[in-house]
Amino acid sequence: MLVLSSPSGAGKTTLSRQLLDNDAEIQLSVSCTTRAKRPGEKDGVDYRFVDTATFRDMIDRDEFLEHARVFNHYYGTPRAPVEAALSQGRDVLFDIDWQGTQQLSEKGREDLVRVFILPPSTRDLERRLITRAQDAPDIVAQRMAKAADEMSHWPEYDYVIINRDIATSLTQLKSILTAERLKRERQYGLSDFVKALREGR
Ligand code: 5GP
Repeated sequence: MLVLSSPSGAGKTTLSRQLLDNDAEIQLSVSCTTRAKRPGEKDGVDYRFVDTATFRDMIDRDEFLEHARVFNHYYGTPRAPVEAALSQGRDVLFDIDWQGTQQLSEKGREDLVRVFILPPSTRDLERRLITRAQDAPDIVAQRMAKAADEMSHWPEYDYVIINRDIATSLTQLKSILTAERLKRERQYGLSDFVKALREGR
């Protein structure tokens, strides 16, 4: 379970899309949200866009692994697709905020790897939010105000990447994923493999 968090505009979405394009073993956990669809976003690909009543029903039926209120909207990770992917031995990428990350951490899962993406500067963050031009100016201002709060949660993560350029950040993220996959406890069937080696097979 690879979690990516950052203030909006730090480049996390670009980074996660590139990682998904580069690595066939990991798949995105598509969240549900009650926020409006942005231009270019596809239902079922970027998010599952649902209304508040549907979201609340899903909470009541315990269908979320975690859920939180962010920018006055609900966001949540549907449990079933994540469990299906993990049981098939696949890795799952989560683009979620610090509240969701805390909820996953509280479950005490050993397979959780948390990465926080920081922008190189506040000015850079603001510029990216404005040039993204997908949100109204008042929303941009609201997201800037929230950014400082979100950034204060970096000590709760295992790794921190300062996103100066996407190519370098992607290399760093891939290195984290590779190192985590090579951890002894994540290499299933290792004892059988070593036994076969020792027996000369
Ligand atoms: P955006 O509206 O810009 O797509 O996302 C706003 C914030 O909500 C981002 O920080 C994103 O990571 C977070 N987010 C997206 N999906 C989820 C989710 O399922 N759970 C939680 N806790 N946060 C989410």
